[in-house]
Amino acid sequence: MKAVRFHQHGGPEVLRYEDVPAPDVGPGEALVRVRACALNRLDIWGRRGLPRVRIPMPHIPGSDVAGEVVAAAADDAPTGGRVMLQPGVSCGRCAACLSGRDNECERYEVLGYLNHAGGYAEYVKVPLQNLIPIPDEIDFVHAAAFPLTFLTAWHMLMTRARLQRGEDVLVLAAGSGVGQAAIQIAVLHGARVFATAGTDEKLERARALGASEVIHHGTRDIAEEIKRLTNRRGVDVVIEHVGEATWAKSVRSLARGGRLVTCGATTGPNGALDLTALFAKQLTIHGSYMGTKGELLRAAHFFFAGQLEPVIDRTFPLAEAAEAQRRMEESGQFGKIVLEVQ
Ligand code: ZN
Repeated sequence: MKAVRFHQHGGPEVLRYEDVPAPDVGPGEALVRVRACALNRLDIWGRRGLPRVRIPMPHIPGSDVAGEVVAAAADDAPTGGRVMLQPGVSCGRCAACLSGRDNECERYEVLGYLNHAGGYAEYVKVPLQNLIPIPDEIDFVHAAAFPLTFLTAWHMLMTRARLQRGEDVLVLAAGSGVGQAAIQIAVLHGARVFATAGTDEKLERARALGASEVIHHGTRDIAEEIKRLTNRRGVDVVIEHVGEATWAKSVRSLARGGRLVTCGATTGPNGALDLTALFAKQLTIHGSYMGTKGELLRAAHFFFAGQLEPVIDRTFPLAEAAEAQRRMEESGQFGKIVLEVQ
């Protein structure tokens, strides 16, 4: 089969479109013909390489997949079925897994990141429990663009921050995958949403998704704008994934009793914290990583009903994966970049 792999860490140029053996399906697994695979920041971290993260080479990236089941080791996963894939793979037997917190499993992995070959390929194999059937009216590009970012944003807002109707939420980087998902999920649950972005065009698109107020983070101080827009109160929840560049302003934007949830640190891992503000304002800081299989099924219900819809930035053919990753690294996109596999 054709696939895109890297044989060493580096820039987008290390991605090679080449012939590789198709995966063998074992007991409890399904083989899926990939029709679309969405990009995530994780693809770029994996390709560049991180200290203490060992990725077996050569490696096929890609965590967000939609396609058709072509072979399955069980009768209840009929071949030919249209599916999207749960991006999280876990042991299924430990206390965390059996308590429904599979993203806390010690063996938890994201498809296409470490030992599991991903979706930048014509075929991918996954455990049967990772198959999610999709309705006919949902196309493969949108289906591939849904799982990882909507799961991440759902876990951040609904499970970690325990968002309540009527609360105020600040979403950083509205044009990112997590940003566009978080705006939609927060609005769906009755929150008032403030969103930031770096261009006027992105700010308009954030409004179109339901953000009540938008902040240009290049020309405005986020915390000052939040104070102004909330009559100095601040917001109940901040959805943070930018890291060093915005951390201090994100914390300063919180109201008393506010919760900050972070799932990423694109601009760097270090953030200072004023401990006086932390206790005096009774703030809470939550880390968040992916989400559970059950949460994705719950979020998918709203996707299939037309109440949540991933924003597609643009699509590329699989062979142009390097070009697609360059677009993501330049942060020019609004929404998801998706590879189409013919
Ligand atoms: Zn487990």
